[in-house]
Amino acid sequence: MKHKSEYKDMWVFIQHDGTAVEPVSLELCCETRKLCDASGEELVAVIVGKLPEAELEKVLECGVDKVIFVDGTGYEYLNCDAYANLFTLLCRKYEPTAVMVGGTIFGRDFAPRFACRLPTGCTSDATELVWDPKTTDIEFIEPAVGGKMMAVITVPVMRPQVGTIRPGTFKYAPTGKKDYSVIHETVDFPVEGIRTKILDFKADEMDESLKIADAEVIICLGNGLKGADALPRYRKLAELLGGKIACTRPLFDRGVLPFKLVIGQSGVVVKPKIYIGFGISGAVNHVTGFSDADKVIVVNKDPDAAIFNYCDYGIVGDMDEVCELMIEKITAARA
Ligand SMILES: Cc1cc2nc3c(=O)[nH]c(=O)nc-3n(C[C@H](O)[C@H](O)[C@H](O)COP(=O)(O)OP(=O)(O)OC[C@H]3O[C@@H](n4cnc5c(N)ncnc54)[C@H](O)[C@@H]3O)c2cc1C
Repeated sequence: MKHKSEYKDMWVFIQHDGTAVEPVSLELCCETRKLCDASGEELVAVIVGKLPEAELEKVLECGVDKVIFVDGTGYEYLNCDAYANLFTLLCRKYEPTAVMVGGTIFGRDFAPRFACRLPTGCTSDATELVWDPKTTDIEFIEPAVGGKMMAVITVPVMRPQVGTIRPGTFKYAPTGKKDYSVIHETVDFPVEGIRTKILDFKADEMDESLKIADAEVIICLGNGLKGADALPRYRKLAELLGGKIACTRPLFDRGVLPFKLVIGQSGVVVKPKIYIGFGISGAVNHVTGFSDADKVIVVNKDPDAAIFNYCDYGIVGDMDEVCELMIEKITAARA
């Protein structure tokens, strides 16, 4: 087995549907750029199939050093058979030191498969990536044991280090286009070897109120909420502020709000301008979901609640009473 020092370049799999790149791929390009700057590696975008020019520009704007364009049979739609085979072959040929894959449904499916075939390690759901100059390993850092500790996961011997990262974990903050080189690869996969077929496609008709990832204002409700009957006043506050309702996991467990509104490690990662949290204790599993919010305001009746360690403004008091007061003050200020 080759020594890890003989592998080079960090790759990002650019997931797309032929019309647009998945935002997580762009987020990963920007974050992996930082790792490459620290390690001296080159950032390589791997693009399978055709991508519109404007979308390619978004990728290049992340400061990629190289693009590997792949064509061939078997990639008309995302499927594990062709893509896992492709990445196994490409990794064997070019020997990258890392391959980052967006933690989409597809990414979570195909990344461990090619990692297993190589074979190498695959880690998932990191909320932080750090390159360690001593070991030259990437530290994939994530909450563990119910958020009581942060686990640092590394792939200390094998290469490449494969990681799937949850959408929204990092920011798309492009550093600008660089001179980049291009490699073209043609890898045919026999279409009869693809074990899945798309029989039908129905666009997700998701209720707008359930799309909280890009909301600018979030009113997040915790287990302190008495029940569904108490919801209208918080909806009113959200409406006044042009925001959306979200929640912690216990409210989903209690059947008060749907899972799509859960913020945190197992839910959605949000980056609002304002996050107002009511009746939330401050478990790391939840806090990691809003740590990039510009301003955090929290309300809890317990002055020792951990959530007060993560806020810009903390209000000790009954959540319903504070919410009513907020509605009153905002309404009066606008009258
Ligand atoms: C692997 C794993 C993944 C997880 N992922 C997530 C996740 O993605 N998102 C998530 O949210 N959780 C997640 N959890 C659960 C998480 O650990 C916590 O249990 C959860 O976040 C607690 O939610 P909470 O703060 O609303 O509830 P609690 O911990 O029950 O806190 C309720 C708070 O409300 C306050 N309160 C009560 N009544 C009032 C009142 N009238 N006025 C003001 N304050 C009041 C209390 O003082 C208390 O601090 C995960 C757990 C595990 C093990």
